[in-house]
Amino acid sequence: AHLDRIASVDSAVHAFLEVDAEGALAAARAVDDAFAAGQSLGPLAGVPIAVKDVVVTKGLTTTAGSKILQGWVPPYDATLVTRLRAAGMPILGKTNMDEFAMGSSTEHSAYGPTHNPWDLERIPGGSGGGSSAAVAAFEAPLAIGTDTGGSIRQPAAVTGTVGTKPTYGGVSRYGLIALASSLDQAGPCTRSVLDAALLHAVIGGHDVMDSTSIDAPVPPVVEAATRADVSGMKIGVIKEISGEGFQPGIKKLFDQSVQLLVDRGAEVVEVSCPSFEKGLAAYYLILPSEASSNLAKFDAMRYGLRVGPEGVDSPSAEQVMAATRDAGFGDEVKRRIILGTYALSAGYYDAYYGQAQKVRTLIARDFERAFEQADVLVTPTAPTTAFKLGEKLDDPMAMYLNDVATIPANLAGVPGMSLPNGLADEDGLPSGFQILAPAAKDERLYEVGAALE
Ligand code: GLN
Repeated sequence: AHLDRIASVDSAVHAFLEVDAEGALAAARAVDDAFAAGQSLGPLAGVPIAVKDVVVTKGLTTTAGSKILQGWVPPYDATLVTRLRAAGMPILGKTNMDEFAMGSSTEHSAYGPTHNPWDLERIPGGSGGGSSAAVAAFEAPLAIGTDTGGSIRQPAAVTGTVGTKPTYGGVSRYGLIALASSLDQAGPCTRSVLDAALLHAVIGGHDVMDSTSIDAPVPPVVEAATRADVSGMKIGVIKEISGEGFQPGIKKLFDQSVQLLVDRGAEVVEVSCPSFEKGLAAYYLILPSEASSNLAKFDAMRYGLRVGPEGVDSPSAEQVMAATRDAGFGDEVKRRIILGTYALSAGYYDAYYGQAQKVRTLIARDFERAFEQADVLVTPTAPTTAFKLGEKLDDPMAMYLNDVATIPANLAGVPGMSLPNGLADEDGLPSGFQILAPAAKDERLYEVGAALE
């Protein structure tokens, strides 16, 4: 049914870069056989899933939305993919994304943008717009995203779906093509909180292949999503991101949901996180710094594309690298490599990267203090509903501002979830409600999220 749905709508939505009908059907049949043979199966056995193209999949092209990896077929599976397969989940295909997960609209994909199923002239968010659009358009019941500064939560908000960024280290990063290694986290994109919890439980947990993976059991997310009880919980509204300056319809829906939590027995307190103001600036130094280093491996020697410089008979390795990187990387990737290389260069390191790391510490402290006063914190997920394709493409700063509410969680490593929060008055488009919890307390996201559903 999902393959049929993809065949009928994906030419308009373009959520997928590649569909693996044969592989998905074979995996589904294997589950049927296991069931017939009386084997015990997990709760998601046979449920198909779409996977963001930044996650490596054995035998299935993986490009991270970039021309530089066009046609690259990985020889191994990411740990989370191994877990999906072991859970009997057929992989429908790979979803579109901003190149190397840099962006908030999926327009930076080298393979053309994804369209928001709510209005095809609008962006589906980014970088994981393909995963959220696939779920919103009923092309897949579940999808995997990755979130470095909001790329699961912001697409969830603008497509009216659920997206969770687990605690840093909660889901193995082994086999994710790294954007910024200290910020990256993979997580679920779904239509309900319980679906997200079930998927979180499949992909989460310790992995010896990732040295930053948390060596503890997955938090009890399914139990929390089933219980959905907020009575007696303290909910912190962050003064600095309570919706002031956001689209008025988004602020209104946010306030209504906060009231709903009060009606369900929660207590609301206001908390202040003064350093969050500097989050965006710190993020857009730390991320390009790490990315410029991570992307150095795309050198024309090891993976994907290789182009020789034009008009040179026997080019040097450097000339091949330069020509390949020039042809293979898009403008946004080049912009961030230049920014990051500059921020890390001798003489500027302390002024930029060093300062940004200090802000990161201040943000983590703001969170610590806030979580002394509240069990979870809440904000609107994104300042606007889905904007028109092309609207912010030529204005990087306008694009970066979308991430103002999502970035602090990545800088501090704490978990976050975006929930569908109704349609904004102005344009009738979906908005998102963000919940943030202390590190390793991911279950609180599900407890509160399910109570609001
Ligand atoms: N919009 C953010 C950026 O462009 C989000 C990136 C992400 O989470 N992968 O960096």
